[in-house]
Amino acid sequence: MKNRLSSRFGLRENGGLPESADSSENTGLTRRALVGGAAAVTLGLPAAATFALPASDAVAAAPTDSPGGGDEATSRELAREVLLVSADEQSDLKLEYLKILIDGRLPAPTARKRVLVVGAGAAGLTAARLLIAAGHDVVILEANGSRVGGRIKTFRGIFSDPRLHAEAGAMRLPDAHPLVLALGDKLGLTRRLFYNADVAPGAVSTGKIPPVTYTSFTGETWTNGPGGTGFSAPPATGLSLITSNDLTRTRNAYAQNPSALNSLFGTDLATTTTAAASAAFAPVVVSGTTPIATQLDGWTQLFRDFDGYSTQRYLVENQGWDTPRLQAVGTVENLTSRLHYSLIPTLFDHALISPTNRYWEFENGTASLTDALAAPLKGLIRTNRRMTKLIQDGQGVTIETTAESGSEDSCDGAPIGPVETFHGDYAIIAVPFSALRFCQISPLMSYPKRRAVEELHYDSATKVLLEFKTRFWERGPGGFTGGGNISDYPSRFTYFPSHAPQGSRGGVVLAAYCWSDDAMRWDSLTPGERYALALADMARIYGNQVYTEFTGIGATQSWARARYALGEAVVVTPGQLHELHPATRTVEGRVHFAGEHTSLKPAWIEGALESAVRTFLEVHAR
Ligand SMILES: Cc1cc2nc3c(=O)[nH]c(=O)nc-3n(C[C@H](O)[C@H](O)[C@H](O)COP(=O)(O)OP(=O)(O)OC[C@H]3O[C@@H](n4cnc5c(N)ncnc54)[C@H](O)[C@@H]3O)c2cc1C
Repeated sequence: MKNRLSSRFGLRENGGLPESADSSENTGLTRRALVGGAAAVTLGLPAAATFALPASDAVAAAPTDSPGGGDEATSRELAREVLLVSADEQSDLKLEYLKILIDGRLPAPTARKRVLVVGAGAAGLTAARLLIAAGHDVVILEANGSRVGGRIKTFRGIFSDPRLHAEAGAMRLPDAHPLVLALGDKLGLTRRLFYNADVAPGAVSTGKIPPVTYTSFTGETWTNGPGGTGFSAPPATGLSLITSNDLTRTRNAYAQNPSALNSLFGTDLATTTTAAASAAFAPVVVSGTTPIATQLDGWTQLFRDFDGYSTQRYLVENQGWDTPRLQAVGTVENLTSRLHYSLIPTLFDHALISPTNRYWEFENGTASLTDALAAPLKGLIRTNRRMTKLIQDGQGVTIETTAESGSEDSCDGAPIGPVETFHGDYAIIAVPFSALRFCQISPLMSYPKRRAVEELHYDSATKVLLEFKTRFWERGPGGFTGGGNISDYPSRFTYFPSHAPQGSRGGVVLAAYCWSDDAMRWDSLTPGERYALALADMARIYGNQVYTEFTGIGATQSWARARYALGEAVVVTPGQLHELHPATRTVEGRVHFAGEHTSLKPAWIEGALESAVRTFLEVHAR
């Protein structure tokens, strides 16, 4: 294989060491802006989960005393991007992408090109497959020596019950993300419900798994199969727990009497925190059912007026929230650690990570997606080849790579073995900017691109997973399956498995799932310390049985410390959408850029897939 790569891609080995080692509820501002009603924004979300914005006729009423800080032209560009609307605002790019990626309707052939794809995550693998299908020659360079998939990573074969697996990264796939769901279907993966909200133990869905369906603003409906009726998910039971200030309540009990828990924060909030957050965000949220022009206007206004806002600033200045309310909602909705980031990603996630939304998972783990994508690319993927240097000129692109010692999570990685150099006509760089930061690029990329590589904010996320001999949380009158507890303990989120393999009595619990500062506390601990402390948090709720139920096997993942990710995903800080985001996807000579960070669905597989189809089209057209 090396010979084939060498001749087609001009690969050479220097046979030695690397040449260099670089190798109110609704008080506040938008009171005025809201009066005009709502502009609709699809974001690829079901109607129930879409954003609402002040209507375009209310634009003039946007805040003038504390401008959100975005120019109109960039705001419009961002609006088109979030809605996946073409530059002429007539075509639906999501529809086009579905036809290309899922239906295989590729554009007319162009001159055959040699393309280097750097990064074998969801974006790189998908772009590579499309390029190959369109007749181009591809080599994929992946730094990780042990696996592909990047931030899609399933722990398998490490638990005492070999039938169990657990997710280090991506775990749930929202109904509103048709590319990833349909891609899984196309690759023959078994899709089943992920219970974001708990259900009764033993409860099952009924009917045939529905096909993926996408309704475009053009009036066209795309689907990957017949049927779609008669499927029903088990109802949520509301028995998972909320713990704060030493009080534990089921979600049902909290909904019946929110004040009992809220008052411990010193707030007189009389609704649930979920309802309070939804009401606060409603002024900047619209249904997705209005004409696309109205949606574009609405999104343009949102980006223009609010990109400069942190979530905290919005809630305090625009909604008139006082500190106790902010602390109550921040704690129970797990917003606290991200309050200082931009309002816009908070809106994205608030719409997507909602108890009422439907989610899916792949039966054999999320990594079955990237494994299936990679399977036919064997021989074209060069693992343990970390890009350290990229040089381009008018003729092509040259990439230097190195192998590294240690594992992806170890702290002793160092360049080893020969530098291998690859040549192509073009390159698609599908590595996080946090990783690209450590590569030398010559000649220098444009200034806006360099700023984006240097400054785009990557958040932290850390998971601690514990295996238990039996699913004790399912037992008794308060037992439930799936869903998650939230607490003000260090563990914050605790998620329970939605399904159990046939015959297995045990289960792996995502005992601690934290973001941002909450995650960084865990990052300072060794794996053993993390298991002990996550177990101790569980014992505060479930008692000492957790110690006898624990099999002694855990798994943990800090994404900030993962050497090929260097962060969970992009979560922008105020202003970065205007300042930095547009440059994430601009083409630099012969080099194109893919990955979740180049999309406006950051931190989701869907965004990585959108970027893959976009870069495939860019390169194919050259
Ligand atoms: C904790 C967590 C939870 C998540 N939950 C969800 C979820 O529930 N649902 C969902 O849809 N999404 C979720 N996501 C987001 C999703 O996993 C990502 O958006 C997606 O996997 C990113 O794909 P990518 O191809 O852009 O990047 P990556 O997957 O990071 O791929 C980049 C690849 O480049 C490689 N690489 C890095 N540097 C170099 C180099 N110098 N040379 C060569 N190769 C290099 C890496 O090893 C990696 O394989 C989650 C992510 C995390 C971390």
